[in-house]
Amino acid sequence: MSIEGEAGIDLTEIKSPQEINMEGITYEGVSQGNGNEEATEGDKKVDEDDYVPDVKGKPMFNEDIRWKKQLPILSMRFTNPKQLKFMICNYVVANGYQLYFEKNDSKRLLVKCSNGHCTFRLWASWMSEEQSFQIKSLIIDHNCERNFKLGSIVNYRWICSHFTREVLENQKFNVRMLKEEVKNKFGIQVSMGQCRRAKQHAMSLVEGICTGQLLCVVGRDGNNHIYPIAWAVVCVENKDNWKWFLENLQEDLHLEGGFGRTLMSDQHKGIIEVVKDLFPEIEHRQCVIHVLSNFKKKFPRSQFEKLFWKA
Ligand SMILES: [Zn+2]
Repeated sequence: MSIEGEAGIDLTEIKSPQEINMEGITYEGVSQGNGNEEATEGDKKVDEDDYVPDVKGKPMFNEDIRWKKQLPILSMRFTNPKQLKFMICNYVVANGYQLYFEKNDSKRLLVKCSNGHCTFRLWASWMSEEQSFQIKSLIIDHNCERNFKLGSIVNYRWICSHFTREVLENQKFNVRMLKEEVKNKFGIQVSMGQCRRAKQHAMSLVEGICTGQLLCVVGRDGNNHIYPIAWAVVCVENKDNWKWFLENLQEDLHLEGGFGRTLMSDQHKGIIEVVKDLFPEIEHRQCVIHVLSNFKKKFPRSQFEKLFWKA
C-alpha cells in the first residue's frame, strides 16, 4: 500500500476492499438497457479541452458535462468533496470500475480500486488558500477487469442527484418508476430501498429550502369574506422583510400615505416601525386576537376573557 506523501492518514482506519460493503448493485450491460443514452467507445474518452481551465491553469470541474464523459484529471478542482465523489460515481457507473473510498472526510479523499492488483489511485484534498477541493495525485490506468458490481459508492445520494428534478416536479413519480429510470439511463439495477431513500432525500432537500415565514395581507370582499391580496415567503419575519413587502404593496395598490385606510396587524415590532414610515396617514389597529393572547398572558383566568369580550 503506497501512501507516501500524504501526511495524516491513519492506517488503522483504512479498510481492505473485502471489508467494503458491496451493496447489491449489479450491472445489466448498457447495451441491453433501453438506452436513452447510447454507449459508444467514443463516449468513454474525454477531451481535457472539455474542462475550461481557470486563471491558474487548473481545470475546474464542470457539472454540465454529460455524466458518461466525466473523468478525473490531475489538478482538477471542485467546490467540495461531495462534487468530486459524485463525479467519481459517474465515472464508475460509466466504466464499470470497482472503486471505493479508502479515506473519506471533509478534507481528504483517497480512492482506490477494489481489485488489489489494480494501479488506479486518486488522492484529493482541500486547499484552503484556493478554497477548493483538488486532485493532488492520480494514476488513472486500470489493469483490472471491468466489473459492474459497483459497490457501495453508488448509493441513494448519487441516485438522488440525478433524479431530484423528476421526483420534485412529478408527484406521481414513485419509487418503482425511479428504479426503472435508473436502469434505463445507467443500465444498472439498484434496490427499491435505495430508490426510496433517494426519493426521501430529494423531498428533504426541498423541505430545507422551503422553511420560512409567510407574510400575507388580506382584505374583506363585498360579502364581508376574507380576501387574500398578497403573500410572500421570507426566511425570517423582521423589519427589513416587512419593509420590502409593504413597499411593494404600497406601490402596486397606489396606497400613497394610506389616507382613509385602516390596517390591522399583530403589532409585530417590524410592522409597527415600517408602517409609521411608509403609511403615516393610515389608521393602524391591533388585531383583537393578538391583544387577547397578550392579555391572557397577564390575566390567565377565564372570567377575564369574558370581561375582555364585553369590553
Ligand atoms: Zn481498477
